[in-house]
Amino acid sequence: MGAGARVSTGWRRRSLLAAGAALAAAGCAPRGLAHIEGGFAGVSHERGHRLRQPWPTRAPDVTHRVHTVIAGGGVAALAAARALRLAGHDDFALLELEDTAGGNSRGMQVGGIACPVGAHYLPLPGDDARAVQELLEELGLRRRVAGRWQYDERALCHSPQERLFIDGHWQDGLLPVQGVGAATLAQYRRFADAVAAARRAAHYAIPVQKSTFAPVQFAQDAITFEVWLDTQGLTDAHLRWYLDYCCRDDYGAGIASVSAWAGLHYFASRHGFAAPSEGGGDDAGLLTWPEGNGWLSQRLAAPLEGRLRAGRVVGRIEHGRHGVSVDALDVASGRLERWQARQAIVALPAWVAARVIESPPEALRQRAASLRTAPWLLAQLQLRAPLDDRPGAAPSWDNVLYGAPGLGYVDARHQSLAPVPGPTVLTYYRALDGEPGGRERLLQTPWSAWRDTIVAELGAAHPDLGQKTARMELVRHGHAMAIPAPGTLQEISRLRTSIQRQKLSQSEHPTLIFDAAPRLAFAHADWSGYSVFEEAFTLGHAAGAALS
Ligand SMILES: Cc1cc2nc3c(=O)[nH]c(=O)nc-3n(C[C@H](O)[C@H](O)[C@H](O)COP(=O)(O)OP(=O)(O)OC[C@H]3O[C@@H](n4cnc5c(N)ncnc54)[C@H](O)[C@@H]3O)c2cc1C
Repeated sequence: MGAGARVSTGWRRRSLLAAGAALAAAGCAPRGLAHIEGGFAGVSHERGHRLRQPWPTRAPDVTHRVHTVIAGGGVAALAAARALRLAGHDDFALLELEDTAGGNSRGMQVGGIACPVGAHYLPLPGDDARAVQELLEELGLRRRVAGRWQYDERALCHSPQERLFIDGHWQDGLLPVQGVGAATLAQYRRFADAVAAARRAAHYAIPVQKSTFAPVQFAQDAITFEVWLDTQGLTDAHLRWYLDYCCRDDYGAGIASVSAWAGLHYFASRHGFAAPSEGGGDDAGLLTWPEGNGWLSQRLAAPLEGRLRAGRVVGRIEHGRHGVSVDALDVASGRLERWQARQAIVALPAWVAARVIESPPEALRQRAASLRTAPWLLAQLQLRAPLDDRPGAAPSWDNVLYGAPGLGYVDARHQSLAPVPGPTVLTYYRALDGEPGGRERLLQTPWSAWRDTIVAELGAAHPDLGQKTARMELVRHGHAMAIPAPGTLQEISRLRTSIQRQKLSQSEHPTLIFDAAPRLAFAHADWSGYSVFEEAFTLGHAAGAALS
């Protein structure tokens, strides 16, 4: 570990201790929370863990024949299914482990109020994400009016979008500006210049397959973002908190874990970084719904009807010269199903795919071996009544507490046009990658302990939270998404080169079809190195288009 990493670990511990002290000072120790009901929801760990047991060797209870099987039912799988449908291919089945499709982009309900199980927004896609733009046009979310693109006002995130609780006040925007000195502002400007320079030097694209993969990007990919900040002399605590927050929010891991390429990509691939003096803090264009990106998944899944087979654990995929055989357990009936097909789209997380495919291609083995995944905790807090507020900026869509272990909360009712605030659900997010024993703690900590911790944390800004919370549902994602650690871009680039050499796809984006498994196309955000809707959708779309 380099000196920079040691410095930063201390910095993070100090900020967590400061947060703890702030909670204690605010008199927010949890008490009288027994009235809050709830439990764990949203993700079926037992089904996923079924793969840890030996897979049944008995003959299947039922055999189906289709032209194409799609294994998995996240955004990548749904995009693949849409591409098949658009090409006129209807003879396929999509096998999903959970009871609804969408994966990390599903919605759920708490007390009759819709809220996200994971992904809660989609930034307005740029021109590199053409397939996503087309989807938005198809769903009526984007249309050209008098030569300009307009987005549906109901989904476009209303103002106020974001606020930060710092030093006992709420400020507009998430970059700390309240009470910071000239030295901090100067570091903000230097970081803005560095992002602008990075954008001039190379193309940071979403989807990543459209990046330039320039030498300067590989140099950034070789070190952590934290080390890069050290080398740039960007040491300001407020700037570092903000950058760490952004990385944890998008990548599930902080500046000490993600590569400098990923840290810069966060800004350079979208709107850059605006220091306050340059007009920073403006609302970003993004689409959101009470159920988050579950709104999009539901619309992608709706046309599938009987072709969507939910509650199926895919446990074995065999591929050969004559076709593909996919075995899945029907959770409701306990029956073992065999799906025989000419080809399959494997839209499973890479580490699951490597486990279930007989003779997995070497590239898949390598990707699964190098993959580090982020554990996430979400808490759905059902509120009986609106919260009292501390001074400062008004309640926003995204509400973050400076220095807290969690990433704050979004309000499911934010897009509501109702004139007065009422009962709602707040979705609290916490990425546990940087925390010692994070994944074990996620899965082993009792619900009531998480309840107390979360109420205490948010209580610094909302002393009445415990009293007004009726219910808290916790969603645990053990292996939610790929972390873009150093070396990720190098790996993606290697894959891209080997794929392009094969020239197997006529679609706009290269498709993952390996020589060793020509009847399998792969699609999942793990193959992009980090997980956002545009990456998953583009890969799925390309796989569906290539196999149509
Ligand atoms: C907490 C959280 C917040 C996020 N927020 C955002 C956001 O706001 N915006 C954004 O763009 N992205 C966000 N993301 C990223 C999100 O992961 C992507 O947007 C996208 O949903 C990834 O889709 P995917 O298809 O690649 O993967 P997944 O969602 O992982 O889909 C894989 C699917 O395979 C299924 N599966 C797994 N094993 C089996 C098996 N054995 N048999 C059958 N099926 C199986 C899973 O149930 C799942 O449905 C967030 C992710 C998390 C975890």
